[in-house]
Amino acid sequence: MADGTHVRFGVLANAWKETVRDAMADIAGNLASAKVEVRRAIFRRRGDPAERRRMLTALKADRWAGDPFLARQMRKHWKRGRNRTHDQIVVRSDKHNIVADGRGRLWLAVPGLERRRMVRIPLSTTVAPAGTLRLILRGGRVEVHYQIDASQMRSSQRPCGDRTIGVDKGYTEALIDSDGGHHGSRLGQLLSSESDRLKERNRRRAKLRSIANTAAGRGDHAKAHRIKANNLGTVKRDRQAARHRATVRTEIFTAVHRVVDKAATVVAEDLTRSFAGRKTLGKNMNRRLAGWTKGVTAEALRNVSERRGSALVHVNAAYTSQACHRCGRLGRRNGDRLHCTSCGVVWQADVNAAINILHRAGDPDIALHTPHHRVKQILRDRTDRHRTRLPVQDSSPATAERRANHPNRSAMSTLGSRRQP
Ligand SMILES: [Zn+2]
Repeated sequence: MADGTHVRFGVLANAWKETVRDAMADIAGNLASAKVEVRRAIFRRRGDPAERRRMLTALKADRWAGDPFLARQMRKHWKRGRNRTHDQIVVRSDKHNIVADGRGRLWLAVPGLERRRMVRIPLSTTVAPAGTLRLILRGGRVEVHYQIDASQMRSSQRPCGDRTIGVDKGYTEALIDSDGGHHGSRLGQLLSSESDRLKERNRRRAKLRSIANTAAGRGDHAKAHRIKANNLGTVKRDRQAARHRATVRTEIFTAVHRVVDKAATVVAEDLTRSFAGRKTLGKNMNRRLAGWTKGVTAEALRNVSERRGSALVHVNAAYTSQACHRCGRLGRRNGDRLHCTSCGVVWQADVNAAINILHRAGDPDIALHTPHHRVKQILRDRTDRHRTRLPVQDSSPATAERRANHPNRSAMSTLGSRRQP
């Protein structure tokens, strides 16, 4: 501000400053999330611990440029950020005020471009926003975003449960827990109907676009313009998308609350781990939606646990959907059923996975970053020991205690057996 850079932007100095600060925070956040990915890459590398420690320290101190591996990884994961300053502005808490008119409607007043002339915005709610505001212009409306203290939210006052529960992310529901409970069962329906709707709508839009292009090619620019303005707009589309996202978020957050109602410790797969390097999602709408809901589920687990005081434990989920939770052998998956030929039992696949995830917490051999192939070897070694009648790992005091703490394991077994065809 001292050198007058802000004058060029034609906005009030204060608004400019807050918006720049916001953009800087975005850049910092972007860098931090890249570092999370690079840290994972460091752990995936098999190498000596001293070398790993050196890399982690260099990464933390922002000295990655000198190390070829770190530099390569940072280039790969530190993606271009998104600038959000074109349609929004940040207003400091002491720069706005709210007044109610005679009919009880709230008006938010913020500084405009002219000095001492406030811009007044009618609000569609009776709750006055407070603190630093982010005003976003979207589809001819103003959205007012502001932070609220999570501890003041009603859902944060609800205490968590007292048990340890494993959860698995389902396909048609948000979460399945190790008791066999299904939470957020509307999720699959919500996603598939949205995916169908998008497919149909995109088909129609493509048709309209081709009509507009043909008209423009013929020289009928008026018609092309009419179609673009009236039929290919983005206001309604964006509003519907936002509403859908809100519905899905509510479904997922409610599901997590149900689990935390009974859990003091939630054991889950780290859903923020991305497998983007292995396959690209492409245009497949279903898979892209699935990727997005995975992120929301991870956020909900972290957020709700923090607010309600339960612990969230991330475990290695390799082979948890394929191994029988009773004997550890890899079973045959058939739709939502898992058939263990050794036990002769058919489990409900997702409940079986949730129980396996629960058991991974405190597993003596399988740690969070144990590579996939190593996990398979460990599982095979355990069942081989079984076959040759050597002492089994499961008799260790740690496992016995864990079993005592979770009597639900045997309850599940009977449930599973009953479902046997
Ligand atoms: Zn089995």
